[in-house]
Amino acid sequence: MSGRIEEVTSILKQQLQQFEVQVEVDDVGTVIEIADGVAQVHGLQSAMAGELLEFENGVYGMAFNLERDTVGVVILGPFSDIKSGDEVRRTGRIVEVPVGGDMLGRVVNSLGEPIDGRGPIEEEGTRPVELKAPGVLEREEVNTPLQTGWKAIDSMIPIGRGQRELIIGDRQTGKTALVLDTIINQRDTDVLCVYVAVGQKASTVASVVDTLERHGAMDHTVVVSAVASQPAPQLYIAPYTGCAIGEHFMYEKQKDVLVIYDDLTKHAWAYREMSLLMRRPPGREAYPGDIFYLHSRLLERAAKLNEERHGGGSLTALPIVQTHGGEVSAYIPTNVISITDGQIFLEADLFYAGVRPAIDVGRSVSRVGSAAQVEAMKRVAGRLRLDLSQYRELEAFAQFGSDLDPATQARLARGERVTEVLKQGERQPMPVEDQVLSIYLGVNGWLDQVEVQEVEECVDEFLQHFKGSYPEMFSRLQDTQEIDDEYAEQLDEVVHDFISDWTGEEEIEATEEPEEPQRDAG
Ligand code: ATP
Ligand code: MG
Repeated sequence: MSGRIEEVTSILKQQLQQFEVQVEVDDVGTVIEIADGVAQVHGLQSAMAGELLEFENGVYGMAFNLERDTVGVVILGPFSDIKSGDEVRRTGRIVEVPVGGDMLGRVVNSLGEPIDGRGPIEEEGTRPVELKAPGVLEREEVNTPLQTGWKAIDSMIPIGRGQRELIIGDRQTGKTALVLDTIINQRDTDVLCVYVAVGQKASTVASVVDTLERHGAMDHTVVVSAVASQPAPQLYIAPYTGCAIGEHFMYEKQKDVLVIYDDLTKHAWAYREMSLLMRRPPGREAYPGDIFYLHSRLLERAAKLNEERHGGGSLTALPIVQTHGGEVSAYIPTNVISITDGQIFLEADLFYAGVRPAIDVGRSVSRVGSAAQVEAMKRVAGRLRLDLSQYRELEAFAQFGSDLDPATQARLARGERVTEVLKQGERQPMPVEDQVLSIYLGVNGWLDQVEVQEVEECVDEFLQHFKGSYPEMFSRLQDTQEIDDEYAEQLDEVVHDFISDWTGEEEIEATEEPEEPQRDAG
């Protein structure tokens, strides 16, 4: 009996020794067709959606279409020497990119590799480009402002850290300028920035980098670039790459991060191109059916992380979308509008009329940011919206040139001056105290007697005067970020003297609200 057991054990031992792991046939596939940066690969039955695949020549691809016998692969690199019959291997990993603090100040491609000729980047690890967005319990409500440095935005369309705010407008309406200055304005804050350029010209990206460098903003910024001449798959993953790089700072270092996607229209085009090449059925405007999901899963990753669970950290997303003829009801704009927490609408007509930034206040909103506004700004901003909306309403009448009653004239005068106050050139982001003071002058009627053309100069000089002659009052505003009644009283005295000097009139006085115009007149 014991002899038999020994026999069995020796057979088992022998078999164990000879046991060899067989390469699963599944893990290797063969290219059967390749064109335009997408390949059909036979085999790879168990490949995951979004998995990184390696071609024979070392180029990577991503599993995009999982079909019965084949996998549609988008190629993330040069594909000219990939041919049918080549082997493709699974890596078992979802596409991931290197991340880390060393990336700040650098320009990388959509795989996170440096392309600025400044040598290798020391990575702190890798992160998958696609990641599930944090759940409700992981988050907390937006409560800290992200100061853009733009008067019109920080006052009326305030953005909070962790928010998603869309910037939308026609070509050449100052969309990029808006976000670049926002990045520049983070110089003195602890916010780190990621600027993702999708489908732009290489020269445009170069000038963006140059601008950021000249204004000392590259130190806290990573630029991810996938230019128009690159194959669609690279444009497609660039925003996810940028997001992953930002998430590293948020999750691992509890930092506040600002990520800009410039722009998602071209991202959608790239995705449409890939989908059509993969013969996915086209839907509205020839986009594939899951185009909404494309952008929602990206923007959902913006978050303000729960302080207790994660120790803080946030990711604010500013996607940009381009419109044609101001048409917001096209497919991509409506999608992204519905995903974000508000939009800043840039209007070509305003831009050409010299109202820059060309923000259409009536159509722009921020649904969560006002909770994060500083007190002093809250105090002046309410009045501002009102002044502007009344101005817009009356502006149309004024064009008829008929006789206007004094009250209407007063409101028009106020509107014109407030509009003037909100104009702001590029590369001049303004600290919040300066913004508050400028707007204070406008909405309290102090500028009503000042010539419209002189408003800008007058406000500038007032700021200088105030900082120079009343430094302790100014620093009190900086510290408390609040204007209470007592402060307002003192401020009014200073303003009164300054403005009556400016206009040469003694009788200057603050009139918070112009009289109600008489509707039935004329
Ligand atoms: P595109 O659709 O081509 O990407 P865009 O909407 O991003 O354009 P920008 O490139 O930011 O627009 O700006 C267009 C032009 O307007 C640039 O020459 C820029 O210098 C100028 N510009 C933008 N904003 C302002 C501003 N606030 N004041 C003065 N000039 C501005
Ligand atoms: Mg642009």
